[in-house]
Amino acid sequence: MSATALYARETPGFEARVQNALAVLQRAAAEHPGRVVQATSLGAEDMIITDLIARHRLAIAVGTLQTGMLHAETTALIPAIESRYALAVEVYEPVNESVVTFVRKNGERAMYDSVELRKGCCAIRKLEPLSRMLKDRSAWVTGMRREQSNDRGTVAFSELDDKGRTKFNPLADWSWADVWQYIASNDVPYNPLHDQFFPSIGCAPCTRAIAVGEDFRSGRWWWEAEGAKECGLHVHGADAQVSMIGSHA
Ligand code: SF4
Repeated sequence: MSATALYARETPGFEARVQNALAVLQRAAAEHPGRVVQATSLGAEDMIITDLIARHRLAIAVGTLQTGMLHAETTALIPAIESRYALAVEVYEPVNESVVTFVRKNGERAMYDSVELRKGCCAIRKLEPLSRMLKDRSAWVTGMRREQSNDRGTVAFSELDDKGRTKFNPLADWSWADVWQYIASNDVPYNPLHDQFFPSIGCAPCTRAIAVGEDFRSGRWWWEAEGAKECGLHVHGADAQVSMIGSHA
């Protein structure tokens, strides 16, 4: 059964949440002309944000991180977005030399060996490319939602990251049913892995399907203790390193 058939459900306030998300995006475009980017993970939430940006012709760039470890189904969404919405997706890749050196030293499966090595891999493949995406930008947009896990329970519609950039989270108050209701109603393209019980999709070695009743993000870095998860992209507060990106983060 498809994810839309399984999860889409219109609940009270859905239209208001869509309008609010649009208003947040309009504010991002108006307050940061030419200096705001949607950092898309190509997950379900981020596909909605790209749809809203394109549908309402908002002046917000769309960028993604090609870590070199994504599923083919995820990578295929980049040309799908470009042809569906006639917009160019900025693609940021890791520095090849850094990847080669890391893999030569630590092996292809280093992420399973320790939290430190996993974070080292994320630093090279995600954080550094993300810092290039955000360079010269004063704001960015993510698909983070409060419901995604307890750790994200305080997600605001906008907040400042550790570099003083504004991070907009237009879907902060959306439910999983809202996400799929919007996708179904607007025929938004999405990753077919969502149809195979992958709610949160990241790099292939670090993502698995989840079972009924499991937390949304339990399919990410599942071999690690809960407190170690996150890749540094969405850290905020005084000890933040980089603060960044959507649900594949
Ligand atoms: S999610 Fe996994 S494969 Fe991707 S950058 Fe992080 S450790 Fe490496």
